Formats: sequence, structure tokens, C-alpha cells
Amino acid sequence: TLADWNGEVMPLEDVKVSVLDRGFLFGDGIYEALRVYGGKPFLLREHMDRLKRSLKEVSIDADVDAFEKRTLNLLAKSGIKEGLIYQQVTRGVYPRVHKYPPKGTKPNELVWVKEFTETPFAEFRESGAAVVTVPDLRWKRCDIKSINLLGNCMAAEAAAQAGCQEALLIAEDGSIVEGSHTSAFGVKDGRVWTMPLGPNILPGITRALVLKLANRANIEVIERSLLKSELGQIDELFLTGTTSEVLPVTKVDGHGVGTGKAGPVTLRLVAEYQKEIDELVRS
Ligand code: PLP
Repeated sequence: TLADWNGEVMPLEDVKVSVLDRGFLFGDGIYEALRVYGGKPFLLREHMDRLKRSLKEVSIDADVDAFEKRTLNLLAKSGIKEGLIYQQVTRGVYPRVHKYPPKGTKPNELVWVKEFTETPFAEFRESGAAVVTVPDLRWKRCDIKSINLLGNCMAAEAAAQAGCQEALLIAEDGSIVEGSHTSAFGVKDGRVWTMPLGPNILPGITRALVLKLANRANIEVIERSLLKSELGQIDELFLTGTTSEVLPVTKVDGHGVGTGKAGPVTLRLVAEYQKEIDELVRS
């Protein structure tokens, strides 16, 4: 795996960072992950815009345009065709105090590109994945793509322990918020439901594309919260994310969803999503 560490290209295992890095001490940093198909980054502009926004929300002063150029150079240098780009910017190194260090403290900027040939969930594309519900224990600014992911890790581990592929995070009011690293969607009577954007969910880039694809396919979209207690009445459930793409879900807490197989609306969106990838690769 090839990395760019503050502008220097090296093997990822050669990157060394101080224990006083605020990412290490506080989880004080921002990240992005994007897919590479046919040697081209997918939805690059959207990811760079979200990176800028997250950094701005926590007042980390990094040159995202320069970071983007280095990312593209690294990708070209790696020669990787099917891959995953990981980008991370922390507030940098400073003696441990909670308040931000003085202006001018250099952020630590890391990118790596690695081979990523199949999505981990490819086998569930038709049969559907199984998920468990867990309480959403995270903080109140989940719209910021922070590297502080302990709540997400706990949820993902609960899913793994249950032999499931993902966890659905449930808010105190009983609504389905999102997955530990995916956005959540339901389908009822041919209409797609998804949680509206707000401080409690990540504005998923795959989510935004899928909503656009649904609109284009004349599939009605409703943005409102869906309750866990309503799961028994829905026809289809699916998740979206950079690495999961569009993932049908057919089991929640051991109970079947809809017919128990990936539904027609989900499969239509899987196909439309694949067309977008094919278009990128051909372009
Ligand atoms: N929700 C959370 C909590 C995530 O961590 C992620 C991705 O990592 C997503 C949703 C999906 O976002 P995207 O489609 O931008 O990958």
C-alpha cells in the first residue's frame, strides 16, 4: 500500500507519527474514503467538498485542493485500477491540552491507496445481508466525518458478534438513523424512504447519488424517519456506502424483511448504480 504523508510518498508501513498527534490522543481529525474504478476516483468532487466542510466545522485549517492533487498523483503512481483511497487530516502534533493548539500548528495529512477488487458484501447482492439493531450511542454531530468512531466500532462489533454484516443504529425515539458505516433506506409500496439529513447522520455520498438515481428512475423518495417498530410493514430494506455500494438487507434481528429476498426497487438501484460506475470507467 502506497501512502502520501504530508507530501512525501512512501510505503504505508514506513509512515511514523508522534504519539502527541491529536488524532492519536483525542480522535481529533477528519477522514474520507473513496472508491477507485478503472483507475478513476468515483465521486471525487463530492468527497472533496465533504472533506472541506467537515474540516471547516472543526476549524482544522488544511489546503484541501493541494491534498486533492497529491491524492491524484498518488493514485497515478500506484497504478491501481480497482481500489480504495483513504484520506485523513488530524489537527497535528502539540502538547496534550483539550483546547485547540495555536494557529499555525501544522495538520498531519495522510492518504493511502490500496487494491480493493471486490466489495466485502458482493455475495449478499442478491440474497441480501443480515443486520442487527443497536442503540445509537454516538455524539450529536454525526454529520461531521470525524475519525472518532468508537460508537461506530462498537456497533459494527455487535453486528459481527451476531454473525451479521452491519448494525442499524436506533435513536432514542425508536427511529432508524443509519448503519455503523452505511446509510439506511426502506421501500414501501414502491416508494423509497430515507432519514432526512441533519446533525445525527452522515450526509452519505452514496446516499445522495442513490437518491438522484431514484429520482431519475421515477421512483418516489420520502425523506422522513422510519421507526424500528415499522420494519415489519416495509417491503424492502437496503444500505448504501462507498465500500458497500447498494446492499440489500433481508434480515433484521433474525426476522425476514419483505419477501426475504432482495426486492425489485433495491435491485433496480443496484443496476443504476453499476451503470454510473461503468460510465466513469468508460469516460
Ligand atoms: N454513515 C456512516 C456513519 C458512515 O461512516 C458512512 C461511510 O463511511 C456512510 C454512512 C456512508 O457514506 P458514503 O456513502 O459517503 O460512503
